[in-house]
Amino acid sequence: MKNLIDIKRLKKEEITAIINRAAEFKAASQDPARGEINYTSGISDFARLGERLYRANSCSNKTACLMFFENSTRTKCSFAIAAQKLGMNIIDFNVQTSSLSKGETLKDTLDNLYYMGVNTVILRHSEDDMTERMSKEVKFPMAFINAGDGKSAHPTQALLDYMTMLEKLGTVEGKKIVIAGDVSHSRVAKSNLALLSKMGANVHFFAPEYFTPKNKEEFNVIWEDDYNTAITDADVVMLLRIQTERLSGAETEKAKHYSEKYCLTTERLEKYAPNAILMHPGPVNRDIEVSSELLDSPKGKTILEQARNGVYVRMAVLENAAG
Ligand code: ASP
Repeated sequence: MKNLIDIKRLKKEEITAIINRAAEFKAASQDPARGEINYTSGISDFARLGERLYRANSCSNKTACLMFFENSTRTKCSFAIAAQKLGMNIIDFNVQTSSLSKGETLKDTLDNLYYMGVNTVILRHSEDDMTERMSKEVKFPMAFINAGDGKSAHPTQALLDYMTMLEKLGTVEGKKIVIAGDVSHSRVAKSNLALLSKMGANVHFFAPEYFTPKNKEEFNVIWEDDYNTAITDADVVMLLRIQTERLSGAETEKAKHYSEKYCLTTERLEKYAPNAILMHPGPVNRDIEVSSELLDSPKGKTILEQARNGVYVRMAVLENAAG
């Protein structure tokens, strides 16, 4: 069983292997509706490749359980699609109507799920390190995949972001990657920093004072004081959502004025980083982190491409875990 708890524990080669596998899955994906693949006649090379990929590494008869204690669109749906594409059974565990509400512990719930045949758990939780805790408490051979916990880690998001950057830039080595916004509450920023610095990128963080972590010195990153300087000549500008659900009252008050100073507009991006790729993990707060005009322009499409790459990255991760 192969857990995926935190990017920090993956070696460079393991990251590359996941991305390569995701790229294979993407190439094999038969989705003419999106115009990704040129079908000629009969079975295309892609379809044949697809058959080989799916047959060789069948995860069928394996059962994955989606356990989401926090809301999600992209992560949850793409894990579900990925599992379906791999031929897995998938359970959408409903936290609210489950016996957790009767007082059962999460560990006991997981033990029971194991006995029913679940072999992979995809867990999202508001507490930092919950996936790791459960992977230790449960003594049965179940694989645990961290689908985002607390403010600490979101490994599959970083992997899909990296895949998207590789597609656009070829490499991240030596590239200026700016991650801006609510850094202190963002698990995306932390997992991306871990991955991108491992792969040789120059990662810069910008956050207003009220979104700057108190332990900022402990981050191995270039901290920027000024937003415009931060994004100047960036290869990638990755914006972060304001994590309203994690803010204190005082932070909520200050965040009300965020967009006045830091909303990324077409004009600003053109002026300081005309060649930058625009990224955002989603969900986007329109006209707060990014202007609607910019989001709806061709530059904004990369954000949708991130979401799509999530399917393939998660197929690779699930295959490792359950296959
Ligand atoms: N979807 C990402 C996450 O779960 C980013 C966000 O919610 O802001 O962390």
